[in-house]
Amino acid sequence: MRVNENILISSLTTMRLGGPTRYVLEVEHPSEVSDAFGFAKQYHLPTFVLGYGANTIGHDEGFKGAIIINRMQGITAETIGSTTKLKIMGGEYWDNVVEYATNKNLTGIEALSKIPGLAGAAPVQNIGAYGQEIADTLESIEVYDIATDTYKILSKADLSFSYRKSILNTTHKNRFFVISITLSLTEGQMTRPFYNSIERYIEANNLTDFSPRGIRKIVSAIRADKLPDPLEKPSAGSFFKNIYLTEAEAEIAEDKGYPVHRGKDGIKINSGWLIEKVGLAGQLLHGIRINEKSALVLINESAKSYNDLAAARNEIIAKVYDRFGYWLEQEPVEIPYENS
Ligand SMILES: Cc1cc2nc3c(=O)[nH]c(=O)nc-3n(C[C@H](O)[C@H](O)[C@H](O)COP(=O)(O)OP(=O)(O)OC[C@H]3O[C@@H](n4cnc5c(N)ncnc54)[C@H](O)[C@@H]3O)c2cc1C
Repeated sequence: MRVNENILISSLTTMRLGGPTRYVLEVEHPSEVSDAFGFAKQYHLPTFVLGYGANTIGHDEGFKGAIIINRMQGITAETIGSTTKLKIMGGEYWDNVVEYATNKNLTGIEALSKIPGLAGAAPVQNIGAYGQEIADTLESIEVYDIATDTYKILSKADLSFSYRKSILNTTHKNRFFVISITLSLTEGQMTRPFYNSIERYIEANNLTDFSPRGIRKIVSAIRADKLPDPLEKPSAGSFFKNIYLTEAEAEIAEDKGYPVHRGKDGIKINSGWLIEKVGLAGQLLHGIRINEKSALVLINESAKSYNDLAAARNEIIAKVYDRFGYWLEQEPVEIPYENS
């Protein structure tokens, strides 16, 4: 286990905000996870599990506790017939996993290309994009149970996945440390029709390669055009969740002319559309730029503090609510500072 002291949270998160944390404990082997939580317990420190920090926001006050990060690397593959099980250690960078799978012609996660983050965080909010979610292919995860100091396997059914949710960020939030994840992938390719923006891209560019590598290339190109690279422009990706509607609510929305999408993940209105319609796309609020091409993404252009981000967020939420009556919900999690 590597023990680091007084590290700025801004250096550990892609939004680049947040004061110092007392400790950062980096674990490189499953047995060290228990040691890390034991260390925190010994010194009566609160803990927070962090990955790449692409969906996490720090406060200016920092964190007077121990941030624990999974640095375990490695992917092992076991093939039976046309199915391959990949066991991926949680410290692997997620996009390397997609590259590994698509190079083996395995389908199931190619549309999740270029999502920043570590594999251990992927099941937490059930990462999803372009019609795929990790819930579609995840078989089980290996965890350390912080409450009981034991190691366990949780199956997909145990995790109760739904849109951007699992037990890891709802009923059992902060209870488990993900050590590794196991995916079940098959050889082949995604079936048509693909997600709308993929179909549009294929048509515009006259493409015919829909193999996992082909779709990975397409998704990577669409994302590069639309989404800021967090290494160049600090952001936490989609800052707001989409608005999910019941059938009755959807009918009312359609009567008002709002674009309602019916998909396998439910009936939704894209929150980015709502933000565009209130005229905020491309605007700068308190040092936070609302991304021009994908208004769901907030970029930290010159915000000095968490308060700047909060002020921008609250203005966006209020404007959308006043015009449409929908209450936008923040997607990224925040490192608590009450314990500080
Ligand atoms: C430019 C950009 C684009 C993005 N696009 C998408 C997208 O298309 N789809 C999508 O779903 N998301 C997207 N995101 C959000 C983000 O990439 C995902 O949420 C990703 O899974 C975060 O991984 P991370 O390692 O950075 O997690 P972190 O931000 O470090 O952590 C996120 C949550 O997971 C918990 N966690 C992290 N590691 C572990 C672990 N080992 N065990 C237990 N809990 C853990 C943390 O406590 C926290 O609650 C985007 C973000 C950015 C910046």
